[in-house]
Amino acid sequence: MKHTKPGNVITLKQALELAEQFEYANGSFSPRYTPMITPVLRAAEKAKSPAIVQISHKELLRYGITPAEFADEFYLRVRSEHITVPVVLHLDHTKELETIAAAIEAGFTSVMIDASEKNLEENIAISQEVVDYAHARGVSVEAELGMIGTTDFVETDKDEELYTDPQEAKYFAEQTRVDALAVSCGTAHGVYMVREPKIDYARLQAIRALNPVHLVLHGGSGVPAGMMAKAITLPGGGVSKVNIATDLELAFLGALGREERMTNEECKALSPEWLEKGRAGVESTVADKMVNFLGSKGKAVHFRA
Ligand SMILES: [Zn+2]
Repeated sequence: MKHTKPGNVITLKQALELAEQFEYANGSFSPRYTPMITPVLRAAEKAKSPAIVQISHKELLRYGITPAEFADEFYLRVRSEHITVPVVLHLDHTKELETIAAAIEAGFTSVMIDASEKNLEENIAISQEVVDYAHARGVSVEAELGMIGTTDFVETDKDEELYTDPQEAKYFAEQTRVDALAVSCGTAHGVYMVREPKIDYARLQAIRALNPVHLVLHGGSGVPAGMMAKAITLPGGGVSKVNIATDLELAFLGALGREERMTNEECKALSPEWLEKGRAGVESTVADKMVNFLGSKGKAVHFRA
C-alpha cells in the first residue's frame, strides 16, 4: 500500500535537528510486535512528545513481519489514533540493501545502514550508496561507526565492542553525508547483566566537536536516567536519538506474565483483553522514558508542520 504521509510524519533529520536545538532526545522505540505500535504512539500523543517507531532487519525476520506490514500498521494507527505529535518511521540496523529499498517503498522516513563490521573504507562506500538512494527519495540515513556490543543478539549479532574514534567519525560523516551516526561509547544492546552500563562522555564530546552529524546512542534500555541526561545535554550538542528496544518487550511480556517471546502472528492472535493489557504495559514504559529519561515530554510544541 502506498501511503500519503500526514504532515506530522517527518524524517529523522528533521526530528534530530529539533531535539538538538531544544536539548532532548527522541526515543527510538522498537515495538517489535505490530500491535505494540499503538501504545508507543498513544504515549507520545499524551506526553506531547516526538517519537520514533523503529524495527530492525533481524527483528523483522525473528518476529515474522515485512516492512510493508509494519508501515501499514504505523500509518493506520497514526490516523486512527489521531496522532498529531511529530513521528518518524525508522528502519533500525540493516545490512541488506533490498530490505532498505523495501522499507523506503513502504513509507519509512528513515533507514539505518549498519556496515560497521566492515573496514572504514568499505563502511563508507556502502553507507554512501544508501545515502544516495535514500536522500533521492527524501529519506534520512543513520549509519554506525565503531561497534556497539550486544548481550541478547536480537537487534544485532555482534558480540564485539569497539569504541568510535572521533577523527574517524569526522572523516566518515564528511565522506558519507549521513544524517545521524550511531556511536559506540559504552552502551550495549540487550539487558545489562554481564556488566554495568557506562557512557564515555569525553569521547562523545570529542566526536561532536569535530563534526555536526547528529549522535545516536543504542542500547538505551537499562541505562540510568541521570547518565542519559548528561549525554543528551552535553555542551556543543549531545545525543539526540536513543534506541530503546529491550525494555518495551519486557514491559509487554511482563504485563502478560510470560517470559518467552512470541511471533507477530501469535501476538495478533491474543484476545482483545490480553492485547490491551500488553499495550498498557508498553504505553506506561514509553511514557516513563519520555518523562524521566529523554526529556522529550512537551517538546512536540516546537514542531511546525
Ligand atoms: Zn542498535
